[in-house]
Amino acid sequence: MKTEFEPFRIKMVEPIRLPSAEEREAILQRAGLNLFRVPAADIVIDLLTDSGTGAMSAAQWAAMMRGDESYAGADSFERLREAVREVTGFDEPLPTHQGRASERVLFEVAGGAGRVVPNNAHFDTTRANIERTGARAVDLSIPEAADPTSRHPFKGNMDLAGLDALLAAEGARVPLVFCTITSNAAGGQPVSLENLRAARDVCRRRGVPFFLDACRFAENAWFIREREPGQRGRPVAAIAREQFDAADGAIVSAKKDGLVNIGGLLLVRDDDLRRRAGEVLITTEGYLTYGGLAGRDLDAMAVGLREVLDPDYLRYRIGTAAYVGERLLAAGIQIVEPPGGHAVYVDARRFCPHLPPERFPAQAVVVALYRLAGVRASEVGSAMVGAGGHAPLELVRLAMPRRVYTRAHLDYVIEALVELHARRDAIRGLRVVDAPASLPHFTARYAEVDPEAG
Ligand SMILES: *Cc1c(COP(=O)(O)O)cnc(C)c1O
Repeated sequence: MKTEFEPFRIKMVEPIRLPSAEEREAILQRAGLNLFRVPAADIVIDLLTDSGTGAMSAAQWAAMMRGDESYAGADSFERLREAVREVTGFDEPLPTHQGRASERVLFEVAGGAGRVVPNNAHFDTTRANIERTGARAVDLSIPEAADPTSRHPFKGNMDLAGLDALLAAEGARVPLVFCTITSNAAGGQPVSLENLRAARDVCRRRGVPFFLDACRFAENAWFIREREPGQRGRPVAAIAREQFDAADGAIVSAKKDGLVNIGGLLLVRDDDLRRRAGEVLITTEGYLTYGGLAGRDLDAMAVGLREVLDPDYLRYRIGTAAYVGERLLAAGIQIVEPPGGHAVYVDARRFCPHLPPERFPAQAVVVALYRLAGVRASEVGSAMVGAGGHAPLELVRLAMPRRVYTRAHLDYVIEALVELHARRDAIRGLRVVDAPASLPHFTARYAEVDPEAG
């Protein structure tokens, strides 16, 4: 049989509602043409992010009822520790409330003025948590990552020669090296096992610890299984484990492949570094066995970390973005190729060639998509950069929440984009009405500019 279907059935539903065209116009104006300012109840299909927006399974909800809320040494922590050992091989996980808390705790210990932290491509909170300690965050991705039409199978790979050169030049100023799987900044693109191990070897030779930003470790493992020579058909849990085996530590946002709405992990092999991180954790997040979470959250995470490695789930999951991406391409809409794991990125420069970067083409498409269909996407481009700066690419990100939307919902999104593309000449550019200096895209207000006004 050829029909692909969601590998679950639904026993709890949340109604969604499409506001009328007049309502949508009023909502957009009230929000200053910024979709972050639109109440979620006014969105019919919400593709703003895949972070913490997934649906938990019946097994996860059942596990929550077992939550042990003891302050120290709770059973829930023991169950989480068992799951983390099984999935990652790390023995003593430090739980945190989300990925950026793991980053803050780690860089409070390992960062500091004058230090340099390389990564294939830093996620924005990772970069911010490095830079707030006075350290410098450096991206070392392969050149293919910058080309939306390149079909390189592992566009998340690290530039190994660049890494070696940086370690040679900076020496002891590099406290650790990071590699993000999958590379979120590059569009959810995977890193091969070969590249991970080679990066690890470069770090070993130079005596620097190698860490993973492992938010999407299961999606990355699936891509390895599908695309890497010699890996085809191997158990995905074994591949996931080999990714972690290559690392001296990891940060994890469990809001992605932990399949929970809140939670994170900090994994460190070195006893001394883990002890120092644990002290920061106790001071700012919570005791070592709960780290700012409720016991029930730890139980949900323990189940999610194992559940995410189910091959039926991962085939469906990675198939979701591929389905949307390939249909958009077939309709003549350029996306970042190949489709990533957690999102599809539409190239707004090609969608709106009549709009220059200073008219925010990607934000203009985001606004037009909501106006036409009530769908929320996010801008990854010059509106996000702000302060008159230009992003290298103007992208509209369609992020896929896990186990939330069906094929029919996605067909609706595809239809809306194809329809919008057919009348893209009418999409008007934007100007900033007001925006804060830092992280402008969350709160800025925009207005549409008439074409003759330029
Ligand atoms: C989401 C994410 C983070 C931060 O995690 P939060 O749970 O949102 O704090 C860090 N790195 C990557 C690659 C992410 O996708």
